[in-house]
Amino acid sequence: MEITADSTSGSVNRPEAEPPIILLPLVPSAFNAVLDMRKPIIAANWKLNKGPSDTEDFIRGFESKLADFPKGVDIVLAPPFVSLVKATELLSQSRVRVSAQNMSEQDNGAYTGEISAFMLKEIFVQYVILGHSERRSIYGETDAIINAKVLKAHEVELKPIFCIGETLQEREDGKLEKVLRTQITDGLKDVTEKQMLDTVIAYEPVWAIGTGVTASPQQAQDAHAFVRSVITDLYGISVSEKVRIQYGGSVKPGNAAELLGQKDIDGALVGGAALEVSSFADLIKNGVPE
Ligand code: PEP
Repeated sequence: MEITADSTSGSVNRPEAEPPIILLPLVPSAFNAVLDMRKPIIAANWKLNKGPSDTEDFIRGFESKLADFPKGVDIVLAPPFVSLVKATELLSQSRVRVSAQNMSEQDNGAYTGEISAFMLKEIFVQYVILGHSERRSIYGETDAIINAKVLKAHEVELKPIFCIGETLQEREDGKLEKVLRTQITDGLKDVTEKQMLDTVIAYEPVWAIGTGVTASPQQAQDAHAFVRSVITDLYGISVSEKVRIQYGGSVKPGNAAELLGQKDIDGALVGGAALEVSSFADLIKNGVPE
């Protein structure tokens, strides 16, 4: 039987008696989109380290190693505010993206010391870390404040790296799931489905951040699976299976492979091990096999 495609409408003309033929649109780009559904994302959170000249030194060293890195991973550097312009200029032709570590939920006005989402966009920043446990515990950021920042980031098309995680006390008291559910539900209030797909979640147990203590791969996987189940409850499975969830908390070159090998772990948010080019580069290579 001859089947012809109508070039104007894209429909298929065939004799009436024949059973229908289902044509699956597996063109290469759609196929890649399926494979890319959860491309790993590894981000360096430099915290209060590296002014513009240290940022430049790092980027020059890091760029020279980029050719060795696996292609299937998004790489993000988050320097302090004063180094962002240097980073976006040096990386303007690179596959490496730049993130801020925080921003204001306000647009402008009498907010001394703050930086707005629009300002970050103006200097070509693409991601912003929001709700890091240090912002929550040291600077008193609540779920409501973090939610306002997440919504503001999406308003200007900055991608939030939205951090959540329990303290040791909360885990020991059996409150892990309650804490995570509240942080997610309140922190992502009014975030649309489309915006959710552009949100990266970083699960960072507070007891593992900067302590050298890492969650076991099983502990991390269990928490990630729970986080994904909450996203399923809020947005449905077709969204939750696409949302990337990073693990953060003492990730190093030596434990990256096992952690990132877990089914629901889609990358890492890295502090200490991302301060040196060699250790961050090894962590990426170990964490994401070719
Ligand atoms: C972090 O700052 O988000 C972090 C995970 O730090 P570290 O890797 O040093 O534990």
